[in-house]
Amino acid sequence: MIRSLLTERDGTESCAACLRIGLTPPASEPLEVDHKQPISLGGDNHWTNLQILCRYHNRSRGNRPVDPRRLPTWLAQLARERRLKAHVAWCEACGHVWSPVSKWLASQVEVLLANESAS
Ligand SMILES: [Zn+2]
Repeated sequence: MIRSLLTERDGTESCAACLRIGLTPPASEPLEVDHKQPISLGGDNHWTNLQILCRYHNRSRGNRPVDPRRLPTWLAQLARERRLKAHVAWCEACGHVWSPVSKWLASQVEVLLANESAS
């Protein structure tokens, strides 16, 4: 129920941190509800303090803000499984966000895509 509230508020059902860097995680990456301000730092369970994050962003964040210069592990995993190219095509075909916000991130994605094609 809280998930549908957050989906409505944010206009998307995807990871807030991935969207901020211009990516949409694959359906195989679980989505989790995260406390923006952690409980341990005085945050509460009110829906205004909650957001949807992919498992990578939720688990890697701890009590810190999301670091935009760390590559989500699901990206490398998709490439390893040779599914990244298909995922990008799916995003583009379905109108999901796929426009890496920084040159650094775009170049990392390009390398992964090139490796997937070459191997
Ligand atoms: Zn994410």
